[in-house]
Amino acid sequence: VSDDRTPRAAIVTVGDELLLGRTVDSNAAWLGRELAALGVPVARRHTVGDDDPSIREAVTAALGEAELVLVTGGLGPTRDDRTRDAVAALFQLPLRVDDRLLEAMRERFRARGYARMPETNVSQAQVPEGALVLANPVGTAPGLALVRGGALVVLLPGVPREMKAIFAGDLKRLIVERLGARLRPVRMRSIHTTGIPESALAERVEAYLPPDLGPIQLAFLPDLTGVELRLTAVDAPTEEEASRWLDRIEQALAPAVEGFGFRAESGDVVEAVAYLLRGSARRLAVAESCTGGLIAKRLTDRAGSSAYFVGGVVAYADSVKLGQLGVDEGALARHGAVSEEVALQMARGVAASLGAEAGLSVTGIAGPEGGSELKPVGTVWYAVSLDGRAAARREVFPGDRHQVRERSAQAALTMLLRRLEGVP
Ligand code: ATP
Ligand code: MG
Repeated sequence: VSDDRTPRAAIVTVGDELLLGRTVDSNAAWLGRELAALGVPVARRHTVGDDDPSIREAVTAALGEAELVLVTGGLGPTRDDRTRDAVAALFQLPLRVDDRLLEAMRERFRARGYARMPETNVSQAQVPEGALVLANPVGTAPGLALVRGGALVVLLPGVPREMKAIFAGDLKRLIVERLGARLRPVRMRSIHTTGIPESALAERVEAYLPPDLGPIQLAFLPDLTGVELRLTAVDAPTEEEASRWLDRIEQALAPAVEGFGFRAESGDVVEAVAYLLRGSARRLAVAESCTGGLIAKRLTDRAGSSAYFVGGVVAYADSVKLGQLGVDEGALARHGAVSEEVALQMARGVAASLGAEAGLSVTGIAGPEGGSELKPVGTVWYAVSLDGRAAARREVFPGDRHQVRERSAQAALTMLLRRLEGVP
């Protein structure tokens, strides 16, 4: 073919349970990632129930949108499995029993100790005339590939494990064989930011973004811990070209994310904190009130954290703040538990009592109760003590209890990161 445009895929997932929300359509997400990485990005998805007209319509629509159409689900032996029949009827292909397939299926049943294979399974050995059988190394229903005009239509079982096994084996080979030189793997790069709202970040990004983005598409992906800027190179003719553009745009955006960006393979600010603690041979202790151990949990989610994380105190009651962290009674009485003074004393106290160079503390009102006019729900004080010098910060976070806690943990970790970046 002389056509050198990037080939596109479309996905049709079949199953009433997908429409009813009883099963999350993880097949489409998985295939989307795999196909982008392989170089044939997904242009459109369809999800339909287990009925012939819907399946026929979706496959017909998909053929108008893509030259690779992957259909998953409904290949099983039961009456609710309609895909094979529906697609054979659409293409007016008779179904024939594939004797080798039938024998292989019988063998599978024998190997598992069944005397005979149920007759319902014979339908799984039926193949539309001219279809290529794609081996299923982990189940009975094989994949089926059909060429239709310029397009390749592939039927796959719905069971994720089986779908993936067929894709990784025969199907990937078939796609590479057919589309070979035209495949354009999608390359991505993430710029992680935290501590800046999406809209404010967008303003800064607009100010620095060059007018020509080449093959790069830019996406803002916010969650409770920050906003990820994702750069995606689609349709770049070569991998070098994709890398060059990714480098260029990343460099252009460096001043836009200054003070908010951090480097982490995992996307978690804990990774950047860990890197600096390790590099400076400092150990960390945490004192958590409203986050209840969330920061310690995030720190210890990383393997190898014992190298720099000593431990923590969940100082929920005032008695623990007093008894375990050495917060003084006068400060508690004068300023309350959610105050600058107490946050500072907690950070210093936990570093001292657990023998760490760095102490991190959080004290706040996660809600829904406990707010007041002066200290509304979401009010949080957090502090970092580093080599004996402590500083605190106050914020009023929006959202429900869960969100306030997540945001508090992230803000405290981020404050620690910036302090660590600032020390030699
Ligand atoms: P089987 O031979 O087991 O009947 P099948 O090809 O007919 O396989 P389905 O009957 O549609 O597939 O689904 C089988 C199982 O796979 C179900 O448990 C279903 O929830 C799951 N499944 C189906 N489609 C998807 C999907 N798109 N994403 C995730 N799971 C799925
Ligand atoms: Mg089924």
